[in-house]
Amino acid sequence: MQYATADGQVSDAIKGHPMNNFSHLLAPLELGRTTLRNRMVMGAMHTRLETLDRPVERLAAFYGARAKGEVGLILTGGYSPTPEGVMEAGSPLLNSEEQLGQHRAVVDAVHDHGGQIVLQILHAGRYAKVPDCVAPSAGKARINRFSPRALSTAEVWGIVDAYARTAELARLAGYDGVEIMGSEGYLINEFTAARTNQRDDAFGGDFDARLRFPLEIIGAVRARIGADMMLIYRISAIDLVEDGMSGSETAEFARRIELAGADAINTGVGWHEAPVPTIAASVPRAAWAFAVANVKRAVSIPVIASNRINAPAVAEDLIASGIADLVSMARPLLADPDFAMKTRLGVVDEISPCIACNQACLDHIFTERSATCLVNPRAGHEIEFASKRADPVKRVAVVGAGPAGMAFAINAAQRGYRITLFEAADELGGQLNMAKVASGKSEFNELLRYFRAMLKKTGVDVRLGYAASARELVSGKFAEIVLATGVVPRKPVFDGVDHPKVLSYVDVLLHRVAVGERVAIIGAGGIGFDVADFLVADHADDSRDVTAFLRTWGVDGTHSTPGGVVDPVQVSARRRAVYMLQRTAGPLGRHLGKSTGWILKTRLRNAGVQMIGGASYDRVDDEGLHYHVDGEPFTLAVDNVVLCAGQLSNRTLHGQLRELGVNATLIGGADVASELDALRAIDQATRLAVAI
Ligand code: NAP
Ligand code: SF4
Repeated sequence: MQYATADGQVSDAIKGHPMNNFSHLLAPLELGRTTLRNRMVMGAMHTRLETLDRPVERLAAFYGARAKGEVGLILTGGYSPTPEGVMEAGSPLLNSEEQLGQHRAVVDAVHDHGGQIVLQILHAGRYAKVPDCVAPSAGKARINRFSPRALSTAEVWGIVDAYARTAELARLAGYDGVEIMGSEGYLINEFTAARTNQRDDAFGGDFDARLRFPLEIIGAVRARIGADMMLIYRISAIDLVEDGMSGSETAEFARRIELAGADAINTGVGWHEAPVPTIAASVPRAAWAFAVANVKRAVSIPVIASNRINAPAVAEDLIASGIADLVSMARPLLADPDFAMKTRLGVVDEISPCIACNQACLDHIFTERSATCLVNPRAGHEIEFASKRADPVKRVAVVGAGPAGMAFAINAAQRGYRITLFEAADELGGQLNMAKVASGKSEFNELLRYFRAMLKKTGVDVRLGYAASARELVSGKFAEIVLATGVVPRKPVFDGVDHPKVLSYVDVLLHRVAVGERVAIIGAGGIGFDVADFLVADHADDSRDVTAFLRTWGVDGTHSTPGGVVDPVQVSARRRAVYMLQRTAGPLGRHLGKSTGWILKTRLRNAGVQMIGGASYDRVDDEGLHYHVDGEPFTLAVDNVVLCAGQLSNRTLHGQLRELGVNATLIGGADVASELDALRAIDQATRLAVAI
């Protein structure tokens, strides 16, 4: 793997250490006057748990579980110091002593497990989704429908004081420190960048004046909380927007943050409106190390690296190579609360990996749901998953080793059930074996690694290459039979659907059947997009190549341009002509994930993929694909037509068992095929396993 060294050069450095003892990652650290038990930090994350029933109990259980899992430091999601600075109506706010009760329960849950917790203070500025949002200057953000009002000078001083008041309240609640959120394009960033600060008072103008707001906040907060509490400042290590800070300005700002009294600097990457992916799976691991290194070189206080760090080996190397002193992981701690403990115990194969899909965390937050995790449905739902030991212990047969079957088998075996898992194919994984080859989805290999390790650890009897028949399942004297037999691809009905040109996505992704230079894809759901990306990338995956990633997305890795943005360079020449079609009229890809769909669409647009909505398919013949749009006939002279037209449940075995009088339980795609994804499959399987 490639990443950036402390001298800012991108190089092949991270090798991964099978025999790693993670001595740097596990070393304690003095941060201000506090000693952290290790260098792993759970980064701040908006969870929306406060909107669910029993919010205090949920938050205490959520953070308590991470502290029990031995993470060194927890940063809470952002709390606004003022009502108009909240992320959205009802979002967390800390500005009164009356709110302290709920915080004490959370703090106690963390302290009870020997952890430390810091409250993040976040004023959303012009990103606040409230009509009375405010900013240094008027000017709407592209990602918010509300326009901000420019703050008066007196109001700016008022907000400085509000930060200090919130920090003081955090001290009263028992927090170990505060983090001042100064990155991702929120209020503080809007002051520091010329693009959003056109003020002519003491808080606007030249570089020094633009830094005044955050430096006044640090001074005021330190004065109010005293020397004993940790004060962490989260800097934007690279803005990724035009007219943002240059690398030398960021380094100078970091020096002044240290002088102003911060104990540590955390790093953020990119404003939320930046047209560059920063944490999706298509971003290489530790891709932003070069920007963290720039901050680290400027200061003597500890620096925290963040973004796309999801494995102990990557985290260890960032610290061992001097790029950072600590590593922040938000989503990986959603995926596995015991990440730090498993690292200490040396059982890293048992870490449930964050695959950077964003499906259950960010996409839930962007669609007004609470955050959880695709690979760990317990995240945010800890209080719903009190798991009891099996009583009596029963023998359970599970058929199908896709995500649903494996998740059920592991969770039921952990409760003490004796599980036999039958899989007709020669390998574990089911649909995951197709997901893992899509470009930017190599992290699915890590999920398979986790499932393999846990099946072994929990003693599940795995029978690969074994198509269990209904009769032997019945005669096997299993107390329960769970069917996770998955899906079969839907075959649309039109003339020539059996023509040799026609392939299914399974042929392309799993069996690697050779595909021609001109290809039509029928169906534009998640799999149609993945197949298109796979075909244009021609099996190359730049999510492992930092240099290619930075060039493709127009990121200046040399710190010389304002905001770190340059013109994108298309590194791979277009290899195939790809056409995507759907019957529904209108743009394609409307149902892709909110936080990742735009990335996929941008990649395909840049690769020249043509997207055709409102198509009705007439036939496939030697000429190619014939179809109509609005009554007008068209022919695509393609070498292959790939069917990505959704799936149907595979319930053959279920029907055979019913004929024998046995009612087996269906889970995953075998239960409901439409819009099936691993998120729903794993969630359903895990819930069944704790309830059975
Ligand atoms: P899907 O999302 O249901 O899409 C099926 C596509 O096939 C649609 O575009 C549909 O469009 C078309 N279609 C349906 N019936 C058809 C028919 N009879 N003839 C021709 N076309 C037909 O299914 P999928 O793409 O297989 O994905 C399965 C699941 O995996 C989904 O839940 C998806 O979210 C998830 N997944 C997500 C991602 C991602 O987010 N990146 C990646 C992979 C998979 P028309 O009806 O308009 O023709
Ligand atoms: Fe990571 Fe996906 Fe879980 Fe989010 S939902 S924490 S991105 S694995």
